[in-house]
Amino acid sequence: MFKKILVANRGEIALRIQRACRELGVRAVMVYSEADREAKYVKLAEEAVCIGPASSALSYLNMPAIISAAEVTDAEAIHPGYGFLSENADFAERVERSGFQFIGPTPESIRIMGDKVSAKQAMIKAGVPCVPGSEGELPDDPVQVKRIAKMVGYPVIIKAAGGGGGRGMRVVHTEAALINAVAMTKNEAGAAFGNPAVYLEKFLQNPRHVEIQILADKYKNAVYLGERDCSMQRRHQKVIEEAPAPGIPRKLIERVGDRCVAACKKIGYRGAGTFEFLYEDGNFYFIEMNTRVQVEHPVTEMTTGIDIVKTQIMVAAGEKLPFTQRQIQIRGHAIECRLNAEDAYKCIPSPGRITMWHPPGGPGVRVDSHVYTNYFVPPNYDSMIGKIIVHGDTREQALARMRTALGETVIEGINTNVALHRELMVDAKFMEGGTNIHYLEGWLADHVR
Ligand code: ADP
Repeated sequence: MFKKILVANRGEIALRIQRACRELGVRAVMVYSEADREAKYVKLAEEAVCIGPASSALSYLNMPAIISAAEVTDAEAIHPGYGFLSENADFAERVERSGFQFIGPTPESIRIMGDKVSAKQAMIKAGVPCVPGSEGELPDDPVQVKRIAKMVGYPVIIKAAGGGGGRGMRVVHTEAALINAVAMTKNEAGAAFGNPAVYLEKFLQNPRHVEIQILADKYKNAVYLGERDCSMQRRHQKVIEEAPAPGIPRKLIERVGDRCVAACKKIGYRGAGTFEFLYEDGNFYFIEMNTRVQVEHPVTEMTTGIDIVKTQIMVAAGEKLPFTQRQIQIRGHAIECRLNAEDAYKCIPSPGRITMWHPPGGPGVRVDSHVYTNYFVPPNYDSMIGKIIVHGDTREQALARMRTALGETVIEGINTNVALHRELMVDAKFMEGGTNIHYLEGWLADHVR
């Protein structure tokens, strides 16, 4: 096992990784920007290094500053968390070239999965079901583009190979609009991602977002830890996640889970990863792979009893996966509500000082957050200030626990979305389970005047 790891991230995930390190007896070096001096994990750290000013470009995205912090503190490995540099193949490569272990997959795996065209091609080869579409980059010839779209059937969606964060996509309903939409997406993709390549796929009208968590070691052992339903989204940002996905037959999950595991073995994937799918009419369609730990990993930890972050560190240190697929059992139901510093309904960011922080507790309740009373939420980063996760024997019990937990939660001094979560936990459709990816947007449109 490593003696020392550098945590190249901030916020709740930095604290989460610090906790995993403590449990493993590994020293964690925390890095922080000038805006994050007051964060809980910095105060708790045995070692912490300031890597630059508030601006992410100069701190959490500053590769030389992070690598020198690892050098001066004699860390052996770097955990990138999520966001920032976590899916940057060049960073993973620089980390390894500087003699550190990157806690994640190889730079090659990140590169393949980071390009949506090559990711999709790898998945098709591995037998993972994908959204029907162009098998690769769209050609320049408009006649061929029209032929492909006609074969796939309208509506179609044009997507940038290098896209991410819900950007670089355009839905097309008619052939008349096709060629212009392709040209516009190409231009935007070139400017935003430095890669003008686009591809086309069938636009699914009312899908759910269901994803499969996997873990793999360096010896081609891989397992899947069941699925998560992350359909409750706003502007492509997940707001509530749960496991298992309500109403999807286990047999279907097992079939797609097995394909994901096969794909991991085929590409020599190591570490934690997530295969994201759209689910519609009983079918799974791969959309992309995330080659890192995800915000919503705790719902899977609570239903499987497996510590995903500890396992990431263990396999990066060269250990074998300590369990086989047969040993993984899904127990009960877990729900996560993301707490954001924002206006509950209009979703306008609300940074500032938290004058009162009273998190919930009790059986089956977990709170992952780096904030505390008198903590100042900096305006420079993502608005998420933590997560409440609950576990129950059934979905009904988990819902009841979440209602109780949200009822106990007091956050003063800034606006948060706690009130929104309280309403959603008693919403008839959400309580029924299986809402699609448009449901929350529609709900907000109906409820916000
Ligand atoms: P990003 O990397 O930008 O998040 P994704 O490929 O994961 O891009 O897609 C983001 C979101 O866009 C999906 O969650 C879904 O809401 C929508 N989307 C993407 N592809 C399709 C499709 N083929 N049909 C319908 N919606 C889609």
